[in-house]
Amino acid sequence: DQGRTATKGYAWFVASTGDAYKQRLSLMSELREALKSGDVSFSYQPKLDLGLGKVNAVEALVRWNSSTRGFVPPDDFIPFAERTGDIKHLTEWGLRKAVSQCAQWRSKGLHLAVAVNLSTNDLMNMNLPGQILALLRDFNVPASLLKLEVTESAVMHDMARALEVLNMLSAMGLTLSIDDYGTGYSSLSYLKRLPVSEIKIDKSFVMKLAENEEDQILVRSTIELGHNLGLKVTAEGVEDEKSAKMLKEYGCDTLQGYFISRPLPAPDLEAFLADKGY
Ligand code: C2E
Ligand code: MG
Ligand code: MG
Ligand code: MG
Repeated sequence: DQGRTATKGYAWFVASTGDAYKQRLSLMSELREALKSGDVSFSYQPKLDLGLGKVNAVEALVRWNSSTRGFVPPDDFIPFAERTGDIKHLTEWGLRKAVSQCAQWRSKGLHLAVAVNLSTNDLMNMNLPGQILALLRDFNVPASLLKLEVTESAVMHDMARALEVLNMLSAMGLTLSIDDYGTGYSSLSYLKRLPVSEIKIDKSFVMKLAENEEDQILVRSTIELGHNLGLKVTAEGVEDEKSAKMLKEYGCDTLQGYFISRPLPAPDLEAFLADKGY
């Protein structure tokens, strides 16, 4: 009987989504607690500027070590946090953490720019530029040392509103990057309209660069496109020496990936920089 099967199927669907929903809500309340208790931290991944031959920036990547769940990868909670609105708390925590860390490094004579990842909701938040301005003032950090990474899909969600927020941030002197470039719409018209100064080629095109001719063509043309538009180009997911050499030949500006370094806790990052003479 088709009707009965359908009913059963529907009941199963409701029950299972209900469970998943409850689990997510619990994950989110744990996240809010973790942001207060210190179970959430940043690791920092170096960005090697090939022109300078130095690491002059790092990307802040969130690390949640839950006492009950163990390590929870960003991809396992950020998408939910975006849906429930909890991402707002993570962003607020992250911006404060990044700016205060930047100030701490400056006081030690370490001039590192810090890049923070933003989500779609953040780009819809007209209060964000004001909040960031206040943070920079409080910690006496120049705007040029704070970078923000946004994805193409986040911008496309509501282009007009995102543009308004991004234009304010850019006018404040912050550096904006398009993250995961090549995985979204890769529309040429918005590349022209967005006040960004850098594109980051997604790691899926970079990780196997040395072996994959198609990736080589895509990466080389993207670097050329970026440069022709006056943008800096970063490759993320550089995992081996051969790929790093190729990227250098292509004129890529900045390398990021396990070949340079994995994301590191602040003290380990400082040791890494001292060790490498960066
Ligand atoms: P993303 O911003 O594109 O960051 C790059 C991801 O690639 C990071 O994963 C990084 O650890 C990883 N990665 C770096 N080098 C290599 C490499 O050579 N090979 C490979 N296979 N992977 C590499 P992670 O830390 O798991 O973060 C995943 C995503 O979560 C990030 O992608 C970003 O979109 C998001 N995310 C992380 N931290 C935050 C945050 O504080 N706020 C927001 N809104 N999103 C965040
Ligand atoms: Mg990023
Ligand atoms: Mg990325
Ligand atoms: Mg990503």
